[in-house]
Amino acid sequence: MTVQIHTVPAFNDNYLWLLANLASGRALVVDPGDSTAVTAALTQLGLTLTDILVTHHHPDHIGGVDALVAEYNCAVHGPHSKRIPQATHPLRNGDRLALLGLEFEVIEVPGHTLDHIAYFCSQGADGYPWLFCGDTLFAAGCGRLFEGTPAQMHSSLTRLAALPPATRIYCAHEYTLANLNFARAVEPDNQALRERQEQVQALREANIPSVPSSLAEELATNPFLRCNEPAVAAAAADYSGEPLHSSTGVFAAVRRWKDNF
Ligand SMILES: [Zn+2]
Repeated sequence: MTVQIHTVPAFNDNYLWLLANLASGRALVVDPGDSTAVTAALTQLGLTLTDILVTHHHPDHIGGVDALVAEYNCAVHGPHSKRIPQATHPLRNGDRLALLGLEFEVIEVPGHTLDHIAYFCSQGADGYPWLFCGDTLFAAGCGRLFEGTPAQMHSSLTRLAALPPATRIYCAHEYTLANLNFARAVEPDNQALRERQEQVQALREANIPSVPSSLAEELATNPFLRCNEPAVAAAAADYSGEPLHSSTGVFAAVRRWKDNF
């Protein structure tokens, strides 16, 4: 395939995603929290950075933007937000970008922050759809609600859950094992979850990233996408000590539970 995705690890557990068009030698990076790691990867691969995609304003996602712009004079695509003044191309829901021969659609996903966006590519270079979702949907989990309400995050995740099940989920952190431990507390009888935990344990012991996952895996094992499942709803009601009457109520209880897990 013409475009390859490289995993650039940064800090303790961040993944910065570097997309490289090998034919043109051009590259883009998603959420460059650390410029040094990105520059080293670009140099090693002999690539020129033309574009930066930002999902939200947290420092571990934008900390390297200024240094990369200074070095490569690249375009910066990001949410329409005062908190990302570096954005040369501010984006809103439904906007489309054509970069490296791929097309990306912008999906607004408030919850972790109010100005969080995700980038969906319906046809990635490996034949799968790709989703770059920052700190919204994680492998087996979801981002903390720093700014948004449970209803906003639940609605954002419901939107992502409706994408094609084959979609590859490129989230921004390696939190999967901890997320799976929590998921098993919510759904101890979920066989797919048990199997996934074993698979991810083996990957991590071999120091292999557990990301990307597929949306199909998330639908089968991620409690935050399973608020309509009776077992998840019952566990959430047990945790909160009161009946929950909506999937948003279930989501809010599961998120609160995870925050205190
Ligand atoms: Zn964040």
